[in-house]
Amino acid sequence: MIAEKFAELDLLIEYGVPQKEQKQARELAHTFGHDPLAINIFHSFYSSLPEAVEDCITGLVLLERHQGQMLFLVTTSRSSYFYLANHDHAEYGGSPREGLREDILHFYGFAAQKSFEKKHGDFTGLAPYAPDFITSKVCPVCYCLEGELHEFGCPLEVCPWCEGQLISCPCRFRQLGVNEISTEAQLARLQELAHKKGRIVFDAASQRPAYPTAGDESTETQ
Ligand SMILES: [Zn+2]
Ligand SMILES: [Zn+2]
Repeated sequence: MIAEKFAELDLLIEYGVPQKEQKQARELAHTFGHDPLAINIFHSFYSSLPEAVEDCITGLVLLERHQGQMLFLVTTSRSSYFYLANHDHAEYGGSPREGLREDILHFYGFAAQKSFEKKHGDFTGLAPYAPDFITSKVCPVCYCLEGELHEFGCPLEVCPWCEGQLISCPCRFRQLGVNEISTEAQLARLQELAHKKGRIVFDAASQRPAYPTAGDESTETQ
C-alpha cells in the first residue's frame, strides 16, 4: 500500500508541481521514501492540492502526536497547511491562515485556536521533521516513542505474562477466562490486567521488526 503510494508520487508530482520545482519535489519525497507518515502526506497533498493550484512541498514539521495520529505543518512554495497523518493515511487539516480544523484542535486537547497558537507560536524556527523519526525510536505501527507504552492492541506490544506477542499469544484468553474476545469490556478488562501485571514499554532495539520499505516489492502485496 505504502509502496504503491510512493510509486504514484512521481506522476502526481508531474501534474501537481510547477515544472521548475519538480526536481526539488521528487528529491524531498525520496528523502522520506521509508517513512509511511510522510509518504501519506505527500500522496494526499499532491492528489488533492489544497488550493487546486500547482504547488511544491518544501518541508514537514511534526507539531503534535496523540494515539498514533500525528499533526504536521506542511510548508510549500506558496503557503503552509496542516495535515493529520497516521501509518495508513493522511488528510488535510486546515492552514495557519484559516486555523486548525476544530475536531483536530479538540483531539489534541486544545480548547481553542488561541491555545494552539500560543503553544506553537507562528510556526517559525521549528525543527524540520526528520526521516529517521520513523526508523529508530518510534514504534512503526502505533508511533509511540521509545520508553512509552504502545497503543493497546499494537501488534508490537510484548505480553507481560509470557513475553510473546500480546495480541496473539494465548495469555489474553487465559487471563480473562474466555475462549474468545468479542467485546470492548473484555478488552478494557484485559488492559487493566496487563497494566497490573506491568505492561512492557516500547524498546526499539528488541521490539522493532524488519519493516518493509517503500522500494521492497516482495513484502508488499495488493
Ligand atoms: Zn506500537
Ligand atoms: Zn502471553
